Amino acid sequence: MKKAITVWFWVKILVPILLVLIGLLFFFLVVINLLAGGSSDDSQVCYPSNNDTSAGAGIGGDWKDSKSKTHKAMQAAADKFKNELHMSGDNIAAALAIGLRESQFNPKAENPSGQVKGIWQWGAGGVNGNRYKDTQDNVDSQVNLAIKELKSSHAATLTHMRNADLTHSLEAWDVHFEGVAASDPQRKSTQTLATAQRVKQVFKLDFSGSLTDLTGDDATTAQGGATLNPNNCPPATGTSSGLPVKGQYNITGGYPNYQGAGGSPHYGMDFQTVGAKENGDASNVYAVADGKVYTKAFDATGGNNVIIKNNDGSYTYYGHAPSQESIVVNKGDTVHKGQHISHQGQTGLATGVHVHFGVNKKKPAFAPQSDGLVSGGDYLSKVPRKAVPEKGQTIPAGPFSTDQDKDKK
Ligand SMILES: [Zn+2]
Repeated sequence: MKKAITVWFWVKILVPILLVLIGLLFFFLVVINLLAGGSSDDSQVCYPSNNDTSAGAGIGGDWKDSKSKTHKAMQAAADKFKNELHMSGDNIAAALAIGLRESQFNPKAENPSGQVKGIWQWGAGGVNGNRYKDTQDNVDSQVNLAIKELKSSHAATLTHMRNADLTHSLEAWDVHFEGVAASDPQRKSTQTLATAQRVKQVFKLDFSGSLTDLTGDDATTAQGGATLNPNNCPPATGTSSGLPVKGQYNITGGYPNYQGAGGSPHYGMDFQTVGAKENGDASNVYAVADGKVYTKAFDATGGNNVIIKNNDGSYTYYGHAPSQESIVVNKGDTVHKGQHISHQGQTGLATGVHVHFGVNKKKPAFAPQSDGLVSGGDYLSKVPRKAVPEKGQTIPAGPFSTDQDKDKK
């Protein structure tokens, strides 16, 4: 009798339980594998635009697999760059790796707003202009567009690629073709270099080039430049300065009680990049701390503005952006210190292109005398001494450079 019970127990209870457990184990293995991006190799590389492209994941398969569609597309692009432009293996590896970073080399990649499209995420209208125009959503058409631009409007890319190693080829393409600053964390330099090294191996790009002498002006790069989508692929590190602007800048309004042009109290700091227009990289505004986008709104004073709730509990306000679209992050997005979030402009109460920067340690309130409001000169460790004559008070001063690290307040 006891034995019968044991057999019954084994068949009716333990076996089903074991089967369920094995099933669950498999399920979790699949989930973990999906989360890890399929293989540990790929998980190190961030493919910004792929997650929300209309076409879904890349055009097909692992780019390292010579039978995959993605591999064939990259090979076709490599051959064209070699035959038509005489690019070196390093030049080509850089272009392909950036294509992977931008879109997983997917010619159908398109960000949700439709503002950027294709393998190298060209501007397709909106704030970054329209370079894409009537280009087709296929590899051939897009490589042709790239070659046409590399021979004309973006020839500076090739000028800087001549005799360049992998690192400098990546920089040349990012700066002169994509229109991103060399120091921009969106470039994900370390990861992109690792990808490019792998691309070079896989596609055997070991040849030197003979780029013809092309001279071009890339005056249109900043306006028309393909953009990275920071929402999809936040940079691991921020600007080194932690200031809301980069490069040469002036502080054109101070805190507190600095009487602005309108004679009204001014409870923020105005940063103006030297030469900033309402579009292009020079007008970029960067997050000063890690946090999350709290609101993106318009008000009569601050114009188009974005408020970030920082991880330290404080709130920062960036005002006067030219348009809602020029604020390149959305409510709820996680942002990192140094991430490009907006542009300088002059909507609301503003004279001249700049960003109005406010900090509140307690709550998202930025009107003069709001409880919790503090000075940018106190909050930002790298505001130059000349602009902070006494504690809590900042005054118009400049120009300064965010590259200079010595003149701390
Ligand atoms: Zn202001």
